[in-house]
Amino acid sequence: MNPERDPATFRQGKPLVVAIDGPSGSGKSSISREAARRLRAAYLDTGAMYRAVTLSCMRAGIDLTDAIAVEAAAKAAVIELSTSPDAEWVRVGGEDVTDEIREPKVSAAVSAVATTLGARAELVRRQQQMIAESGLRIVAEGRDITTVVAPHAEVRILLTASEEARMRRRGIQLGGTQTAVQLKEQVLARDAKDSTVVNFQQAADGVVTIDSSDLDFEQTVQAVLDTVFTATH
Ligand code: C5P
Repeated sequence: MNPERDPATFRQGKPLVVAIDGPSGSGKSSISREAARRLRAAYLDTGAMYRAVTLSCMRAGIDLTDAIAVEAAAKAAVIELSTSPDAEWVRVGGEDVTDEIREPKVSAAVSAVATTLGARAELVRRQQQMIAESGLRIVAEGRDITTVVAPHAEVRILLTASEEARMRRRGIQLGGTQTAVQLKEQVLARDAKDSTVVNFQQAADGVVTIDSSDLDFEQTVQAVLDTVFTATH
């Protein structure tokens, strides 16, 4: 392999922050995790942080429409999450919630936290801190990484997929237990609510769009790595 295109050594010793945004079902998490593995980089799943705050609010019986209470809960939440692409775990207040934050009850409620601006500001601050502490070799994914969390990242990507491809992938991920209508409600309704505070449907200036609708997993990872190899600044 051309050493300049070997992900494990590419830009070692120089900052390499790879920011990836996209809607749900675009394959962002699995693609970002695999890209991080190959780049020998850290991995930050920012969605897990919004989910963790949502779960702590639900457990504390906080009214998710009460912006002041949600912001306070975001500030108070002790969230720890793995930044290793090989170990997935999330803890809230020391308790492992890796699986619980993926449950439909959390997916259905998370947009309420994500649209609370005070809670966002708190999580953005923590995410920026985690990126700085990663030694600046990290793949960070979410909805506002290319625009708000890391607008100066060396690589900025918007990973999209057609509505049909996203439904299909989410359906498989959820084990085929949902009807088409439930799936559509979950995926599209969440994106619509999230879009009111962050724009992850169109690429901002300087952000490279990768449409994965007709790409398989390996092709999408390669498209991300090819974009990384063009990082020059
Ligand atoms: O990526 P994931 O589906 O786990 O994200 C869960 C939710 O967290 C999203 O639907 C969105 O409401 C919120 N989120 C966000 N900004 C991010 C990452 C996630 O608002 N950077």
